[in-house]
Amino acid sequence: MTDAVTAGGSAARSAEGASDASAGHVASGTDVASGMDLASGMESVTSALAEVGRSAVARGLALASGGNLSARLPGDARTFAITAAGARLDDLGPEQFCAMTLAGETVTFPGETVPADAAAVADPAEARARRARPSSEWKLHQRIYRARPDVNAVVHLHPQYAVLLDALGHRVRMMTLDHAAYVRSVGTVAYHPNGSDALADEAAAAASEHDCLILSHHGCAALGETVEMAHRRALNLEEAATATYRALLLGDTETAFPAAALADIHHA
Ligand SMILES: [Zn+2]
Repeated sequence: MTDAVTAGGSAARSAEGASDASAGHVASGTDVASGMDLASGMESVTSALAEVGRSAVARGLALASGGNLSARLPGDARTFAITAAGARLDDLGPEQFCAMTLAGETVTFPGETVPADAAAVADPAEARARRARPSSEWKLHQRIYRARPDVNAVVHLHPQYAVLLDALGHRVRMMTLDHAAYVRSVGTVAYHPNGSDALADEAAAAASEHDCLILSHHGCAALGETVEMAHRRALNLEEAATATYRALLLGDTETAFPAAALADIHHA
């Protein structure tokens, strides 16, 4: 598959909230789905993602605009909705989401109006590109979807305990039935700058074996066949990390959910 985006520019970015100039390719919604399908698909997944964002910030799994969320659109596995650059996870309205294709193109809505601040932009294509600025971490989501056709949602957050344990060289231990059922196993990805191809590609490789990933010195990525499952996995990963942290404080370095019981666990 041609990856038009990675062949593009290499805009420097100092923070996750920054826009990504290399995501400048713009596809019309008519190339992907009918305008009505795109709009209704966006509406159905973005409301679920907005709820995840509110929950994540309330629980301290992300601070304001730290982290980003995405989900494939129902009926169009080639297109996903993702939080926009700089979007606050606890205040996600429809305008805080962009649509992207698996090729890394942003998708515009047919007939959408150009915002007032783009009035001075002479080139309509450039105006549309400015309207749609996905999170600078969009490659992380794109590469995971390309590697995992069964995954329909990716929740990327900055959970404190999971990241701390990893930084200190401790693995996250499954302690309870829920941890084992939802997380099952944890992959780790070495530190690379946020938004980089290296981070996205190594995360996608780790995702071939795990639904929960810790991105070293950065955050986590939880994958699910639904938004709800990705959310549950993110929550249980951090709860398992918190339990592991407490066990370490008590001097315990071994206790974990019995490995022999893992094979018999099924999601409730
Ligand atoms: Zn991040």
